[in-house]
Amino acid sequence: MANNKYKELASGVFKQRERLKTSADALYKRIEDSPLGPKSKDWARKVVVNESFGGVGWALFNVAPIIERAEGSILYDVDGKEYIDMLSGFACSSLGNNDPEVTKIIQEHAGKLTHFFDLPHPERIKLAENLNKYSRIDGPTKVVFGVTGSDAIELAIRAARYYTGKPNILVAYGDYHGVTYGTMALTSKGNMQPIFFPVTPDQHVGYFHMPHDYRTPQDEHSGYDMDAIRMLERALDGKESPFADGPNCGNVAAILVEPFQSSAGYYIPPKAYLQELRRICDKFGLLLIIDEIQAGMGRSGKLWAFEHSEIEPDMFVTAKGVGGGLPLSAVVAKEEILMEWPTGAHVSTQAGNVLACAAGNYVLEKTVDPAFLDSVNKKGEYFRKGFDEIMKRHPLLGWVENKGLYLGLEFVMDRKTKEPAAAAANYMRDAGIREGMIFEKGGYYHNRIQLIPALNIPEKVMDKAHEIFDKIIGEAEKKFGVK
Ligand code: PMP
Repeated sequence: MANNKYKELASGVFKQRERLKTSADALYKRIEDSPLGPKSKDWARKVVVNESFGGVGWALFNVAPIIERAEGSILYDVDGKEYIDMLSGFACSSLGNNDPEVTKIIQEHAGKLTHFFDLPHPERIKLAENLNKYSRIDGPTKVVFGVTGSDAIELAIRAARYYTGKPNILVAYGDYHGVTYGTMALTSKGNMQPIFFPVTPDQHVGYFHMPHDYRTPQDEHSGYDMDAIRMLERALDGKESPFADGPNCGNVAAILVEPFQSSAGYYIPPKAYLQELRRICDKFGLLLIIDEIQAGMGRSGKLWAFEHSEIEPDMFVTAKGVGGGLPLSAVVAKEEILMEWPTGAHVSTQAGNVLACAAGNYVLEKTVDPAFLDSVNKKGEYFRKGFDEIMKRHPLLGWVENKGLYLGLEFVMDRKTKEPAAAAANYMRDAGIREGMIFEKGGYYHNRIQLIPALNIPEKVMDKAHEIFDKIIGEAEKKFGVK
């Protein structure tokens, strides 16, 4: 009975859960209707039989292609079909798939030592040294290693709470920081909360809005954007928020943000965003933690995305690209923060793996090279220019933004009203698979496409990607009547 009453109270959430639910029949139909080849379809059916329906592939794609090998920026499925890779293993393979140097290093180290628990070994010691050297934080820093992005975020907020003795963490709506038990409350991304429910989220998390030039409740560039941050400051200053406790904000440990919102749809906030958060953290004595898991490691044309705002965080978190395609994450923080806790305070069996650290050392050394970052910026400009041209021909593409090879495309039914073109974005994602290109679709209004190419993507692959986009955007315009 009590359970029913609870369900009734939470009926909104349950309705949404019901809407998101799928069945084996529905997935088999998706497979049948997909443009995948016969072998791929056979493998995809095995996924339905053997894996949880909660797999991200069923949300990211209608049916995920079954990829068996890759080379640079090209993926090959089990039927031998080629795809341009606009995912890069979700930003893990930043130097492209199977980079020959990275592969060689992994092979060499696999022949010597693969893992030594969460304990020091030369490659790990070297990587910690290099992460500190290239932290872009003035003064001494220290490193903690993890395995995944989520576990490093957990480490960071745990360290922030331990160091400050305060419980609350403030995050931006739309940020994605993971979906483990400790991170799900920090991930305030639409459609995630009903999936988390009724798992008790972390109660000590508060939210504010990230400013963005294109989508503001007022006109573009109206200045509203920074008002969102002024409201945060006021909530900390005044008594209207549960987080305020006078000028010292007695119960807030840290502000944790993505420098750009990645999983939400590749949104790039104004430069002043992190600058203002830095000022607010200094004013109220809070730690500023930056989640560089997706935007960092050279993707934005700088080693760390926070460098675009010319600020220094107190702590930042890296994962994905830092392991050269193998699982590895790290927290880099001002020394005093990570010297606070006692020995043995953190441990994770797989943390600091030898192969991942060895690959990471190579990727980091390569990425910090100014000539390499320069090439990422040049490639980013080239890729973006192609979309600027496409925009002239196609009104469906309403907005393009990039920093380096971090590109977000926003699709609208009408450029004046900015009515989100969610169905068209869905259509293009599927048409992309048909035409041989894999990319992620997202956006607050489900109307964005985010592009995560390899940082060394050749120009001719970018040209081909432009060609495919030109075609599928045109098709979508016809289908959905956008002129
Ligand atoms: N933070 C950001 C910015 C991310 O993009 C991700 C993963 N997409 C995470 C945290 C969580 O990382 P993981 O999936 O490795 O736990």
